[in-house]
Amino acid sequence: MKISILVFGSNNFITTLPDQIRDASACSIEVINNIDQAVSYIQITPPDIILVQASNNGSLELCCWLKEQTKLSWIYCILLEDRPQLLASKSQYGLEWEFEINAIALRQGADAYIWLVPKDDTDPNLVDLTVNQRLLSAQLTVGLRKAQKYRDLLRKNDFLSTIALSDALTEFSNRRALDWELPRQIQKARNHRTSLSLIILDVDYFKKVNDTYGHLVGDRLLQLLSQRLRHNLRERDIPFRYGGEEFVILLGNTSCEEALVVAHRLNRIVSEHTFAIDNQLSINTTVSLGISCLQAEDDASGISLLERADRYLLQAKAAGRNRVMGCESESENIISQPISHLRVVSS
Ligand code: GH3
Ligand code: MG
Ligand code: MG
Repeated sequence: MKISILVFGSNNFITTLPDQIRDASACSIEVINNIDQAVSYIQITPPDIILVQASNNGSLELCCWLKEQTKLSWIYCILLEDRPQLLASKSQYGLEWEFEINAIALRQGADAYIWLVPKDDTDPNLVDLTVNQRLLSAQLTVGLRKAQKYRDLLRKNDFLSTIALSDALTEFSNRRALDWELPRQIQKARNHRTSLSLIILDVDYFKKVNDTYGHLVGDRLLQLLSQRLRHNLRERDIPFRYGGEEFVILLGNTSCEEALVVAHRLNRIVSEHTFAIDNQLSINTTVSLGISCLQAEDDASGISLLERADRYLLQAKAAGRNRVMGCESESENIISQPISHLRVVSS
C-alpha cells in the first residue's frame, strides 16, 4: 500500500525529513503551508499521515481541527517541533518542563510529538538528523500501521453494511434499507420542494407458483422478476424488496402522473412476457401496484406514505389484480385491466 503524506510546512522543511518519505514508490507526498488550503485538501483527499511543522502558521490549529472531525480524526498527525525559542528552552528548563510541553501538544490534537533536536545547542538551526530521522521513521511506521488497520476496518464495514442492507435473493436493497432511505428521501424532497412518489408492487397469486412447482422455482421467478423490474426502472428510481413477493420503489422527483406511467410500464412488462425458468418452464404471472405521492401532511418517517400505497394495492387486489391504483387524485387515473389469473405453461 502506498502511503499518502501531507506535509503542513514549508518546502525547505521537507528537506530535513527522512529520505523514506521522498521515496515516490512508497509514499505520495503533498506539501502545503496555508491552513485553509490544507483543510480543503484534507477534506477532499484525506492522507494517511500529516506531518506538521510546528513553526508554520496555524500548525496547532490544524492539529486541533483534525481531531474535532469525526470522519477525519483517524489520520495520524505528527507534530514536529522546530520553533527556535522552544528548542532553545528545552536544555534550560529540564525534563519536567519538556514533559509538560509534550502533554500540551498531545492534548491539542497531535498523535505524536517529535522535537527536532538541534545538534548544537548554540545554533537551533543545526538539527541532529540521525536521531530525529530514526524517531520520525518509527512514527511513520506507527502511522502506516494505523492507516492500514483503519482501511481494513472501513472495507469490512462497507461489506457488512452491504450485507445488512441488501436482499440476497434479488440483490435489491432490503426493508431495513428502505426504513433508512425513506425518511432521507422525504427530507430531501421537502428541502428541495420536489415531488416524491412511492410504488408498492405485489406478485399476484404467487403462492400458486410455490404450491405447483416448489419454492426453488418460486425463488427463481422472484429473481427474474426483480431483474426485469430493474431493467425497466429509471436511474433515479430505487427498488427495495419489501417482503416475500412485495417490492417498494421510491421515485424521487416524480409526480403522481409520472409515477402512474412508471407503474403501468412495470405492470405491462411483467404480464406481457413469460418468465423462462432454467429453460424448462415458462411461467406467466402478473403484478398489482399501489401508488402514493408525498403530501404536506405526511409524516417524516414515511409511514403514512407507505400505508396509502398499501391501501391502493389492496384495492387493486380486490378489484381483480393485474392493475395499477393510486395517487391522491386517482379517481380519474384508476386504470382497470381484465382479471388475469396465473397461467403456467410447461415446456
Ligand atoms: P395475492 O395475489 O393476494 O398477493 O396472492 P399471493 O399468493 O401472491 O399472496 P400470499 O400472501 O397468499 O402468498 C405469498 C407467498 O409468497 C407465500 C410465501 O410462502 C411466498 N414467499 C414469500 N417469500 C418467498 C420467497 O423468498 N421465496 C418463495 N419461493 N416464496 C416466498
Ligand atoms: Mg402476492
Ligand atoms: Mg404479498
